[in-house]
Amino acid sequence: MSSALTQGLSGSRSNRSPGTAQIVAVSATSDSTGGNPHRLRLNSTYVTALECAGLVPLVVPPLASEESAREIMARVDGLLLTGGEDVEPSLYGQPRNRECGPSNAARDRTEIALIKAASETRTPILAICRGPQVLNVALGGSLFQDIPTEVPTALGHNAREDRAARVHDVDIDEGSRIAEAIGETHISVNSLHHQSVRDIAPGLRVTARAPDGIIEGIESSSDDWWVMGVQWHPEEMNDSPEPWDRGIFRAFAERLAEG
Ligand code: MN
Repeated sequence: MSSALTQGLSGSRSNRSPGTAQIVAVSATSDSTGGNPHRLRLNSTYVTALECAGLVPLVVPPLASEESAREIMARVDGLLLTGGEDVEPSLYGQPRNRECGPSNAARDRTEIALIKAASETRTPILAICRGPQVLNVALGGSLFQDIPTEVPTALGHNAREDRAARVHDVDIDEGSRIAEAIGETHISVNSLHHQSVRDIAPGLRVTARAPDGIIEGIESSSDDWWVMGVQWHPEEMNDSPEPWDRGIFRAFAERLAEG
């Protein structure tokens, strides 16, 4: 068990009586190569980060039925959209760039159904990496399918050697939800993506960018729906000496505790 999880379990959960915890639907994926057996997958760091923040994760794989996604959202307190495959470009009206990776149609369908249900009920959403991308597409925005070929002046954003290495800076708008959560307006982040938000959807606003202009943080533009999306991976920073990334999960937990 990681030290972060041990601290989280001994700390935030000790005073809770059954039935009072906030439950978060966590989107997961499935083998895209059709392995036998065909397996469901989720990086465990997402679960650790939620439990450290005192939240109860409920893993939601790609589902056959959009109605199932709506039923789940009617019973949970929040939604965490996680990293993963590239969203199908036709969903935002673009032909496929040859550098766009494989998509998972069932995952796209399920997550878009979860987002639409959350939008109707104003259920809070925390979105990470693919999360802000699929959120933006679900609400009518578009993506860069491959940053190196579509934005050749961009920095390196796909530093896969060390998932926890802080490889580029991010400037965060003062007064934004992300700045409040992190407690800073200028931080350094890890970066494991080759796509990003391009045209922002109605109802969302950009509140953080890398120095090259690539969108790194989005949130809802209204006060009645708590939505925060970051392009980097705060869940990989559970044991980081800097508290910034844990602040994102804490802010999510605090918002959920408000009910
Ligand atoms: Mn980046």
